[in-house]
Amino acid sequence: MAYDENNIFAKILRGDAPSIKLYEDDKTFAFMDVMPQAPGHSLVIPKFPAENLFDLDEDYAAAMARTVKKLAPAVKKAMEAPGIMIAQLNGAEAGQTVYHIHTHIIPRWDGIDLKLHAREMANMDELKAQAEKIMAALG
Ligand code: 5GP
Repeated sequence: MAYDENNIFAKILRGDAPSIKLYEDDKTFAFMDVMPQAPGHSLVIPKFPAENLFDLDEDYAAAMARTVKKLAPAVKKAMEAPGIMIAQLNGAEAGQTVYHIHTHIIPRWDGIDLKLHAREMANMDELKAQAEKIMAALG
């Protein structure tokens, strides 16, 4: 499949669609997932037109990993989450639904199951409040 310049994350990167931003640098962008599987569910995307890991430039793969390494501790601290799950899905069979590569940062708590993937829209005010806490923890 060829990369679709009109996928929702490409639009977010261009500023053509809204997002609740957490972090940005020259090679990556991070924002809140609008259909979170757990409170604090965040996404990191490279500023590179790749559907998945197989198409991604190595420098941008490294940059995405660096941003995950920076953001995950802030999500953990802000959400007071004992565990953090990092996930990156490649291909529909793996569960990928948006075809601009991204890494999920998902807080986990004992006894709290993950919500279904990409199903239920969150309350935007709650997401914004979580984002404020995460950005404060980022420093
Ligand atoms: P995937 O299934 O491709 O690994 O994950 C796509 C993720 O993007 C899902 O967790 C889904 O909730 C999230 N998502 C889908 N559409 C939007 C959107 O318009 N904005 C944001 N912030 N997240 C989205």
